[in-house]
Amino acid sequence: MKIAIDGPVGAGKSTISDAVARELGILHLDTGAMYRAVGLTCLRRGINTHDEAAVTALCQDLRVDVEYADGAQRTLADGEDLTGLIRTQEVSDAASLVGTYGGVRAAMVKAQQRLAATQNMLMDGRDIGTVVLPDADVKIFLTASAEERARRRWQEMRDKGEDADYDAVLAALRERDAQDMGRAVDPLRCAEDAVTVDTTHLSFDESVSAILNIIRERTATRL
Ligand code: C5P
Repeated sequence: MKIAIDGPVGAGKSTISDAVARELGILHLDTGAMYRAVGLTCLRRGINTHDEAAVTALCQDLRVDVEYADGAQRTLADGEDLTGLIRTQEVSDAASLVGTYGGVRAAMVKAQQRLAATQNMLMDGRDIGTVVLPDADVKIFLTASAEERARRRWQEMRDKGEDADYDAVLAALRERDAQDMGRAVDPLRCAEDAVTVDTTHLSFDESVSAILNIIRERTATRL
């Protein structure tokens, strides 16, 4: 079984995908973590993320892998576990930029397709239903209004005791949307055969249930 979940930043893809995959008893591959591993590797090796040729050359040699420990994804670059280091804003910005390069995307898509070839998997990202798994059994486009996605992010930052300005969070999120949807190679878009789930007015549990219902309906003959 292959499940594709795509959508913009802040729609809750990672946490919702995790819960859905656990419920289905299959692995969840967070593909954003792989772009983050490339971004972090550039920062650590002093490779200018604006230099497409240099980043592309790195990706020809770099081995980005994932492993699972008790169902949780660990993301590795050349054998080193980077899982705990890739969630910073700096890495996020680097990932978003290197993800616009065709050579980087080709390497990541190949690695992701290799992972999905041998096991049941739920993948979340931006181009899963359109490029990585065009034949996925179920495709979901998970979204929410920009204002609600920014509000959740702002709340998350405040809960962590960080100083957060809602308008700045919203502006950054709109910028990220523009970059993800406007890039030349594999931009974020809803696959023609995807079902859109808008979580603007849904709780986390309601979002998970809505997706599980769609998956169960669509795969009823096989589950
Ligand atoms: O999902 P996450 O925010 O962790 O992804 C980090 C960055 O990687 C995003 O800004 C996005 O531009 C990029 N990405 C991508 N294609 C994917 C997953 C993530 O371009 N399949």
